[in-house]
Order: sequence, then C-alpha cells, then structure tokens
Amino acid sequence: MKEVITREANQLEEWDRAHVWHPFTQMKDFLAAGQPVVIKEAEGVLLRDIHGKEYIDGVSSMWCNIHGHSNRHIDRAVKAQLDKVAHSTLLGLSNVPAVTLAKRLVDVTPEGLNRVFYSDNGSTAVEVALKMSFQYWQQTGSPGKKGFIALEHGYHGDTLGAVGVGGMKPFHELYRPLLFDTEFAPSPYCYRCPLHMDKETCKLACLDRLEEIMKKNCHRTAAFIMEPLVQGAGGMIVHPPGFLRGVRELCDRYDVLFITDEVMTGFGRTGRMFACQHEDVVPDIMCLSKGINGGYMPLAATLTTDRIYDAFLGDSEKTFYHGHTYTGHPLGCAAALASLDIFEREGVLDSLRPKVRLLRGFLDRFHELKHVGEARQLGLIAAIELVRDKGTKEEFLPGENVGQRVILEARKRGAFLRPLGDIIVVMPPLSITEEELTRLMDIIYESIRTMDAHF
Ligand code: PLP
Repeated sequence: MKEVITREANQLEEWDRAHVWHPFTQMKDFLAAGQPVVIKEAEGVLLRDIHGKEYIDGVSSMWCNIHGHSNRHIDRAVKAQLDKVAHSTLLGLSNVPAVTLAKRLVDVTPEGLNRVFYSDNGSTAVEVALKMSFQYWQQTGSPGKKGFIALEHGYHGDTLGAVGVGGMKPFHELYRPLLFDTEFAPSPYCYRCPLHMDKETCKLACLDRLEEIMKKNCHRTAAFIMEPLVQGAGGMIVHPPGFLRGVRELCDRYDVLFITDEVMTGFGRTGRMFACQHEDVVPDIMCLSKGINGGYMPLAATLTTDRIYDAFLGDSEKTFYHGHTYTGHPLGCAAALASLDIFEREGVLDSLRPKVRLLRGFLDRFHELKHVGEARQLGLIAAIELVRDKGTKEEFLPGENVGQRVILEARKRGAFLRPLGDIIVVMPPLSITEEELTRLMDIIYESIRTMDAHF
C-alpha cells in the first residue's frame, strides 16, 4: 500500500516538474531545487504534503487564509450553496449570496461606501477601481483628469492596469512600454527613508513631497492609489501614523479620488477589520479580495460611494462597461458570508490582541540576530528584513539568495514561508493559536540563526 502511495506521489512530482509553470518563479531555479512540495490536504494552520509531512502555513496561503484551512463553518456554507446553485450570472440577474454579501460588506466597511462591484481577484478589484475613477471624471465635466498617482514600492496586482500603478521596479519595469503614465511619490519606508530623514524628526516630509506631486498634476489626475498602512509585496513596509490621514486630506484638497487597496490588509490582518479604520479614513474607492471569504476561492469587491455611482446613471454611454463571467460567484459569496459570521460569532478581532503582543515579543528578540536589520509589525503581519550589515543597512547581493535559504531551512523544520527577496514575511491565519505562533516563530528564529553562521 505504502509503495503505491509513494509511486503516486512520485508521479505527481514528475508531472508538476513537466507541466506546471509556477507564478512568480524562476523555473530554472525551481527545477534545480529538487522535488516540489505538493500539498494534499490541510487543516487549521497546517498544510500536509503528499508524503504526509506537515508545515505551518506561515503566509496564510499567499496572505488570504483567515480562519484556518478546512474550516467547518465555511465548508458547510459552501456545500449548502452547492446544493442550491453553483453559479449563475450577475449580468442582468442577481443571486442570493451576492446580494446578502453586498449588504454585509457595506455594513462592515467605513461609512459611505454603499455600492459594491464584484470581480474575481485583487488585480481585477484594482482594474475596476482605476477604470471607475477614470470614467467618473469623464462623466462629470473634467475629461482631462485621466492619470494616476501611486507610491513607490506599491503593488496592486499583475493585470496591465494594476501593473501601471505598481511601483516595484523588478516586477514592473519591463512592462513599462505597455502601460499608461503614472506619477510615483516616495513611499514612507522609514527604515530606508527615500528622503534620507529620521522618522522621529521628519514630520512626515514624504507627505510634503506627495503634495508637490499632487499640486502639479491634479488637473490631470483621476485618482491616487495606495495600500493603506502596510505596503505588502514591496516589503511589508509599515507606514508611520498619520500618513494615511494626511493622504486623505491631500486628495480632498486637490480634488483627486482616493483608492485604498485593502486586498492584503483587509479582514483583520492589521488588528482592525480594515486598515483605513486605524485612522478613521473613508476612501472614495476601496478594493477587497484575498481574505474576503477566509481565503477559500477567488472573489473580489470594489466598493464606492453614492457620489461616484450616481455619475454612471444616465444614457447607455454612461454605463460602466466592465464585468467578468464569475462576477459575484455564489459559492465565493456564500463562503464570504460564513467568514463574516465567524468574525462576529467568535470575536476574532478581540482574540487577536494577545497574539499580536506575543508576536511583538518574538520580533524584539529577533533584533539580537546578526543579520536582522529591522523586524516590523502591524497586527498579525510581520516582516524581518535581513541585511549584510546592520550599521550601514547594506543589502546582500541578489545571487546570495539569503531569504530563499532561510525559508528552505524553515521548511525542513516544518513551516512554509515565502520571502520577498531578503525580507522574511510572517502572516499566519488569524486563527493561529498562541502555541502554534510560538512554534512558527521559534522555527523562523532558528532558520535565520543557522543562516547567520554562513555569512
Ligand atoms: N493588491 C494587493 C495589495 C496585493 O497584495 C495583491 C496580491 O498580493 C493584489 C492587489 C493582487 O491580488 P491577486 O493576486 O488576487 O490578483
């Protein structure tokens, strides 16, 4: 029996190597690294591969799992919906879970975001926001307001519009000839301040720089887009308090729409339901996906105000010509409703506080390690930035693959992580227990310490 299982496992690994082109992966390195890890099942925070080896899911299956894997409430809700209807279109029809979810999303998001436009993933949520804001100005007498302002190190997805407002050179530069023009403002990346200032004394000088850019370009700018409080793929860059509120004020002053991309920060990750709520900010457009249904299946929503929605009412040319086959998918929406029920019933946000404190304590300890430049955190999002020299903040060379080496060490010890270059991201499901979090952080500590010995 065991032999048959092993033969099947080998076959799967071989087919993966032969046929699957993995996202964001240099396949030459991937193939050279040996056999892929193929996941067969998962429960709670544990992923199990086809050989039965278990890994703590340290990145919530790409930052989206919230209540753990195989959550029985979400499983049950999806199965119950499957017995009714798997999919019916939102083009000209509606469906029960999509309508109910729209109402629930309006209730949990900041006041005033009354209109919900569904799509399938984080990138499409952003595409919708960009097209919506562009078209808004076309239909309200300011056709010159066509462009966008975004932050350096920002990441908003991989479709071309989203890449157009992406500020990550390694991912985005090659595609520039295919993209529209975007103005980029410096990111408030305090550890590596682009303005070479100190966060204790700078008085948010980066906001002044953003103001200069807005003042100069507002007549041709439809919207400013950013990930509120934490820029994810750019390195889990945690913004200083007041930056988000300051951006809202600038957008109001210069009549620029404010799009917040809460695809990663939404649904409890930062300790509040949405990052915007930390600074009482209401954006004009908010993008949601990933955690929207606990990380179960593709679903996204772009929420906006009545003011924007109303500008699309009128003749057929005012229609918002956008939509996807699976827009408002009933199974995804049923899972989302179950996820919101869990938030309420189990007091998920309150239960996070001790875990957030525990994580802070671990991260403080990481600063003892030779190559930990900064260990930063907001809520249950953390990032450990590894550097060659703490004093100068000198980075390792790309070819040294330090981040990758650390996560492979962690994998041997039973944790799955995915680094951003030499930044180790820690973002477990919110349902992780204190014991599991302790185990995960011990594994990461040991993995970095092992690597320290080689440099
Ligand atoms: N926006 C943010 C802030 C993200 O972190 C991501 C993905 O990581 C996206 C958009 C794109 O989402 P998706 O990968 O679902 O298209």
